[in-house]
Amino acid sequence: MLPLKDHSLKNLNTFGVDVKAKLFAEVFYEEELIQLLSDETLKREKKFVLGGGSNILFTKDFEGIIIKISIPGIVVIDENSDSVIIEAGAGVIWDDLVNFCVVKNFGGIENLTLIPGTVGAAPIQNIGAYGQELADTLVSLNGVLIETGEQKIFNKAECKFSYRSSVFKEELKNKLIITSVRFKLSKNPKTDISYKTLREYLSDKKISSPTIKDISNAVAEIRRKRLPDPTKIGNAGSFFKNPVLNEEMFIKLKSEYPEVISFPSEAGKIKISAGWLIEECGWKGKRFGEVGTSPDHALVVCNYGKASGAEILEFTMRLKEEVANKFGIKLEEEVNIL
Ligand SMILES: Cc1cc2nc3c(=O)[nH]c(=O)nc-3n(C[C@H](O)[C@H](O)[C@H](O)COP(=O)(O)OP(=O)(O)OC[C@H]3O[C@@H](n4cnc5c(N)ncnc54)[C@H](O)[C@@H]3O)c2cc1C
Repeated sequence: MLPLKDHSLKNLNTFGVDVKAKLFAEVFYEEELIQLLSDETLKREKKFVLGGGSNILFTKDFEGIIIKISIPGIVVIDENSDSVIIEAGAGVIWDDLVNFCVVKNFGGIENLTLIPGTVGAAPIQNIGAYGQELADTLVSLNGVLIETGEQKIFNKAECKFSYRSSVFKEELKNKLIITSVRFKLSKNPKTDISYKTLREYLSDKKISSPTIKDISNAVAEIRRKRLPDPTKIGNAGSFFKNPVLNEEMFIKLKSEYPEVISFPSEAGKIKISAGWLIEECGWKGKRFGEVGTSPDHALVVCNYGKASGAEILEFTMRLKEEVANKFGIKLEEEVNIL
């Protein structure tokens, strides 16, 4: 396969940033990927793996090869009366997998309805929303090491999942290309309505015993109302992670700001709302030129026109500085910056 040269990435990132890749290849099969990685002339090139481009900010042209993963397929591998194991290709659109499972009443990923992007990218930051995260249902994943082309299987423990992170965002960052993911889903699903907004929505609609279809519909409607549609306004969802504080830091913050929004986190730690911190700094809906935070969701940074990646990055640096100056808290990016 011959990679394309000087390929525009404008329609391949949800910020809609106008940059180019020196080389670009789209792969549909694992064998094609292994062949590409073994190509002697490409071995020297810097490589970056692209899914749906919904969690990336390109700040400049990419001087190497972008490998877009479009491996298709959803297959039932095994099932019994309680559960089912499903394997999905890394290029499958995440929400298509969710719909497939909801229609078949396979429970476990319905709260993750409408998260943009591909199945292969989902383990990278352990996608999560409305009380569920990928780690709840992932069994294992298959991938190929970029350096050697060797095929590898990772079980869940080896993925080292944590809040919006995994081994693939840390030690193995840009080292493994995920080709497929296996999930274990329930055939007798118990719905998860632990998330307040979701509970309130269902209660308003007088749905007392929701099915997974009800959950999926509810999440879709809540998300459509709260989040700007990236096909209309460029964005990558939450730009920053919610900071996780130790108890001592949290008590200090709470004494100064009793209204701080917080959530339970791992033992002895408290997650606080990054959106709240930004809002308290007066930056909800703040806009400089064509870049700004959404007026509906302070954590979503938007490209309102033809802003460059560098301009978007500059805006987020200023925002980080504001939060650090006011609260002494350093926000960490959820979005991958290139
Ligand atoms: C409107 C909006 C709402 C969002 N809401 C949420 C949300 O609720 N929860 C949440 O967790 N995220 C959310 N996101 C972020 C995003 O949807 C997820 O991070 C998603 O998993 C990214 O998928 P992608 O295919 O677009 O990945 P990309 O943006 O293409 O890539 C993201 C990272 O994954 C790597 N990658 C991609 N594919 C592979 C692969 N096959 N193998 C190895 N590495 C790979 C890339 O190199 C990059 O580092 C939202 C984004 C938007 C635009």
